[in-house]
Amino acid sequence: MTTQRHITRRVRGMDTSDGAGVKLKRVIGQPALDMLDPFLLLDEFRSDQAGDYIEGFPEHPHRGFETVTYMLAGRMQHGDNHGNRGDLGPGSVQWMTAGRGILHSEMPQQEEGLMWGFQLWVNLPAADKMVEPRYQDIPPASIPVVHPAEGVTVRVVAGELAGAKGPVSGISTEPVYLDIALDAGAHFDLALPEGHSAFAYVFDGESATVAGESLARSELAVLSKGDSVSFAATQPARVLLVAGRPLAEPVARYGPFVMNTPAQIHEAIADFRAGKF
Ligand code: MN
Repeated sequence: MTTQRHITRRVRGMDTSDGAGVKLKRVIGQPALDMLDPFLLLDEFRSDQAGDYIEGFPEHPHRGFETVTYMLAGRMQHGDNHGNRGDLGPGSVQWMTAGRGILHSEMPQQEEGLMWGFQLWVNLPAADKMVEPRYQDIPPASIPVVHPAEGVTVRVVAGELAGAKGPVSGISTEPVYLDIALDAGAHFDLALPEGHSAFAYVFDGESATVAGESLARSELAVLSKGDSVSFAATQPARVLLVAGRPLAEPVARYGPFVMNTPAQIHEAIADFRAGKF
């Protein structure tokens, strides 16, 4: 028997800024939704005004979780203190497991035009918080595109759909990360691991129907547990669907450090100040 997921909560992105003044919409990690285990933060950045993004995200640390950047438009250059460099262009994904710690920067490589994408923070289980940092830099051509139903086009970044497997591998929370494009009149049911936390976020078009309810652009739906969720659209729309295994562990969070206890946060700050990242 299948159990359809339904919407348990709706959240609108909150306008804020981060880094050196990059304007963005914070959808997860704000008062209306502080986290959705294992997801700690979801930002959408979208602007064609250079002043909203040009200063970027100069060098900053991370420890204890993963950052996932999905570029829809524009170009960012990533660099860290271990010598890793990467160019993130339209349609590319970077899944960074910060683990025990890195210092990195994420800087726009354009002085005009549209910059659009997402950053998601995914928590690591206690056992993996201090692993060596790892990068999965995924160019657009490595992301399978499938058509699970008429008028439905899905880029499979992580997880499996219609015989395609997303390129992201070896992640503790067994994530599903899909960019779902719906043509007018399209509909389909998506199977999901029953116990995974999941959300849907409409990021293009006026609205989409998720789990039988209309969801406006820039609105996120938290989904109940269950093994499938329905999507439909009367006009073209795009929806980000993300799911992951909840960790159900204590969360101690201070800016770019996400650990299990306050003592581990103090240790992270001390290690950062001592140059141990
Ligand atoms: Mn960062």
